Amino acid sequence: MELKTQIKENYAKILENIQKACEKADKKPEEIKILGASKKQSPEKIRIAFDLGIKIFGENYVQEAEKKISELKDLPIEWHFIGRLQTNKVKKALDLFFLIQTLDRIKLAQEIQKQAEKKNLIVPVLVEVNIGRELTKGGVDPDKIEEFIEEIKNFDRIKIAGLMCLPPYEEDPERVRPYFVKMRRLFEKIKPYMDLEFKELSMGTSNDYCIAIEEGATIVRIGEALFGKRN
Ligand SMILES: *Cc1c(COP(=O)(O)O)cnc(C)c1O
Repeated sequence: MELKTQIKENYAKILENIQKACEKADKKPEEIKILGASKKQSPEKIRIAFDLGIKIFGENYVQEAEKKISELKDLPIEWHFIGRLQTNKVKKALDLFFLIQTLDRIKLAQEIQKQAEKKNLIVPVLVEVNIGRELTKGGVDPDKIEEFIEEIKNFDRIKIAGLMCLPPYEEDPERVRPYFVKMRRLFEKIKPYMDLEFKELSMGTSNDYCIAIEEGATIVRIGEALFGKRN
């Protein structure tokens, strides 16, 4: 099937699923932001998805993103960084991305602060939570999240816009639900101590975005269910 037709069908299916999840959760589909997780997907596919109505895309690797973002610079895309960010890539990342979804260490915050001062920027971030406490993944331990956020508040160039997580993969998405519930509770617990800009809960991928929405996601990050298999 032609690429465009395929992505169009995928997107229609996603919208239908989001609609259903929103009905269950008593929410409006307009409240959910779809982020196209575009790592290892071609600029051509991203352009098709953009034309269908997706305005936010997320990349995991600064180098890969640099090339693609430059090829797509005619489009008003809101680029988010969703991978693990090395401190030596922060400078470049701030030129490329509107929002960093994966702030998870003070050292990284220090570097963002430093580079943002030089560029005279305020950088919106999400704090990544290692909700499954997996050794292989980034993110702040759920028990340390409040303490971490209090420290981040001291960085005046960083604006905390919410929380993000990538829970353990489970073939049966129902098994991921408890992690989403836990994230939602953390979010609600922290919210009273934050300003109004703290409003995003980024969770859910191709496999489990419906359940993430039922449990309170405001941003879902969808890769293969939208674009097809990664290269
Ligand atoms: C790749 C990736 C996604 C999307 O995963 P899919 O299974 O392709 O939907 C979402 N979030 C992060 C952080 C990713 O790295």
